[in-house]
Amino acid sequence: MSRNTTITEVEPFILHVPVTGRVVQDSTHTVTHWGVVGARVRTAGGLEGFGYTGTHAHLPSDRLISACIRDSYAPLLLGEDACDVQRLWSVMYGHPPVQWVGRTGITHLALAAVDTALWDIKAKAAEQPLWKLLGGATKVALPAYNTDGGWLSLDAETVAENCRRLVEEEEYNGVKIKIGSDDPNADLHRVERVREVIGPRRQLAVDCNGRWRLTTMLAAAPRLAELGVLWVEEPIFYDDLPGHIELARRISTPIALGEQLYSLDAFRDFISSGAVHWVQPDITRLGGITEWIRVADLALAYRLPVVPHVGDMGQVHVHLAYAHPAATLLEYIPWIRECFEEPIEVKHGKYRRPEQPGAGSTLRSEALAEYGQEV
Ligand code: MG
Repeated sequence: MSRNTTITEVEPFILHVPVTGRVVQDSTHTVTHWGVVGARVRTAGGLEGFGYTGTHAHLPSDRLISACIRDSYAPLLLGEDACDVQRLWSVMYGHPPVQWVGRTGITHLALAAVDTALWDIKAKAAEQPLWKLLGGATKVALPAYNTDGGWLSLDAETVAENCRRLVEEEEYNGVKIKIGSDDPNADLHRVERVREVIGPRRQLAVDCNGRWRLTTMLAAAPRLAELGVLWVEEPIFYDDLPGHIELARRISTPIALGEQLYSLDAFRDFISSGAVHWVQPDITRLGGITEWIRVADLALAYRLPVVPHVGDMGQVHVHLAYAHPAATLLEYIPWIRECFEEPIEVKHGKYRRPEQPGAGSTLRSEALAEYGQEV
């Protein structure tokens, strides 16, 4: 039965969800709460779509995103058919006064939230999980790798013990740990310790979060290669395209990046110049699912693997990774899973394939009540 998917209301929300009672650090960020800033879109036929971006729960900047949703995008959407997602993406992205002030940054994070909510409605209207709407699953079981044991705020022995537990007890085949501190030797020691405890065959990735300089990375590269590191993620500053091109030519460890790139155009430049080997698009930064699919298709054309960064903590990316042929692996960080009607789940190192209609982004009303902030 077809439902009337005319948009009647677009309501922003802000959630600040505590990160399991810990302080989490990488080389660049310190996080105590994860910000879930998004849009709840209602339709005439009663369907509701949820979409959101990911932030570090800083209320002043979160409110810039929610204001953009409420004041700039919502008026463009009212009365439109929520299922016309591609067209509405172009209407929002191309809206001259908004594009004038930002093709990236706050306006694009807001666009990501709204676009995801529209895809959520489209999948719910089709009564299918998003991966099914997008053409069906291309893999039987999606492997997960775990990032939650390797924060820079933990000492080397704690990181090593976490990674041992993740591979031996929770059956992950891969882990990622943070490096990029001011003490590269200490960072290399962390990598050595983890490699010792997980053995030579399990996947071990490292993440600098854009912190190191080219020279630091070049000096560390031979040891990372000896340790069989799967990829080095964001080795130097996010937008430094010439630096990444040079690194890709001079080190043997593959480069992963994408979580800080806002556009298809940025991915085109990195991919076409050979500056990236593992492509990490993120719907929460990219302007949503619409642009994510374009980036994944681009990666496929270059035969590069896609491993989404999970600013949404995996809720929506699990659908995309199941559906897209270029996606091979998906990060797992469980910080906000309890906020959703169908939380992501990893068993024996593999993601459970979602079953509920929609994009996996539907919030539980209890989460809105408990973690909601004034928009
Ligand atoms: Mg990263």
